Amino acid sequence: MKLDILIKNIDFILTMDEKSTVIKNGNIGIKDGKIEFVNIPDSQLMNVEADRVIDGRHRLAMPGLVNTHTHCAMTLLRNYADDLPLEEWLFNNIIPVETTLKPEDIYWGTKLGIIEMIKSGTTSFADMYIHMDDVARAVMESGIRANLSRSPFFFHGGSTDELIDECQDCSDYHRKWDGAGEGRIKVYIEVHSTYLFDEGTLRASAELAKSCGTGIHIHVLETLNEVEVSKSKYGAGSVEVCEKFGLLDVPVIAAHCVYLTDSDMDIFKEKGVNIAHNPTSNLKLGSGIARIPLMLEKGLNVTIGTDGTASNNNLNMFEEMHIAALLHKGTNRNPALVSAVDALRMATVNGAEAIGFKDEIGRIEKGMKADIILLDIDKPHLFPINNPVSAVVYSAQGSDVDTVIIDGKIVLDNGNLTTIDEELVKHKVGSITERISGARS
Ligand SMILES: [Zn+2]
Repeated sequence: MKLDILIKNIDFILTMDEKSTVIKNGNIGIKDGKIEFVNIPDSQLMNVEADRVIDGRHRLAMPGLVNTHTHCAMTLLRNYADDLPLEEWLFNNIIPVETTLKPEDIYWGTKLGIIEMIKSGTTSFADMYIHMDDVARAVMESGIRANLSRSPFFFHGGSTDELIDECQDCSDYHRKWDGAGEGRIKVYIEVHSTYLFDEGTLRASAELAKSCGTGIHIHVLETLNEVEVSKSKYGAGSVEVCEKFGLLDVPVIAAHCVYLTDSDMDIFKEKGVNIAHNPTSNLKLGSGIARIPLMLEKGLNVTIGTDGTASNNNLNMFEEMHIAALLHKGTNRNPALVSAVDALRMATVNGAEAIGFKDEIGRIEKGMKADIILLDIDKPHLFPINNPVSAVVYSAQGSDVDTVIIDGKIVLDNGNLTTIDEELVKHKVGSITERISGARS
């Protein structure tokens, strides 16, 4: 048998299959972008040849992490405006700068975010932002996997009266990029939120998603203020509004979901809506804490996202997973809530389903696409490994990732990026941020 990549003698493989099986001292074969086998006996391994053999000793292999909600190019605004409530942060600080950003800026900001994600073990992400063609270009070149959503309506100056109809451009974007990069890109429709849109634009967005045969990525009930706005604007809650205007008739990634009522959760469960939990962003903007344990109990598909770096302020999914596992134990005074394996499933297999790659990625199993990361576990903070799942969620750092494989290709090789020139990207982003801060002062 001739393989592209063989990883041998791996200390631990976290498969994230249905039983979250952990294999000790195993091997993984990769061919044509897919997992050819997991853990064949040594006798069969003798007949295997591979273009590249990776030594898996002192390594833990697991599915690449899936970041289900971010605005990747917000790396440009990292630490730009902190310690402010969402409305003040967004409308008075972030949006005024975003309107000055050019397509090329977004391209470089996205590349920086992709570097950060790859180096900390994220192999796919769901993004909604501006100049999405340039985001797609960065995704194509870097080899990462992504769900990209473009808005059919843009608001300028923060007023919903000035929403500009770009539905045609949005369906052109879908036609151009959906399935690109040998299937690495999926395109959804962005609906920023029910509070920025109105009935007409919400209904039009739902129709557009249906006509493209795709899904919707939306912010839902991020703040208490949204609860009030929805009541006065529509006379109903945001989730009821989404349901009424047809937004839940297609696959949905609903970000934040801090203020879901019990009946909102039941609606989401019935409609199969995917939840993107963004604990850091919700804490940092003082938005509140989503009732994730109840959502898990009700059987919703809960996943994890970092949100943009202006509200986090990094794209480190190991940190996000760690916080997601700790937060609900403390606030509910119950250490049994959101277990390590729950958090790990949220960040892998659940995330894969949410961004439209169900049964393609998120697990290490024969036939799945090869999105695999290796952690160097020969570190004091990872010794001894009494429980590999707990080690990943409670002890590991994003910087422990040393090798990343996406779609069967090595994009981080023993700590070295193979598809992106990091120094060039930092140089370009440096001059963009100089321009932004020059305009501010
Ligand atoms: Zn967001």
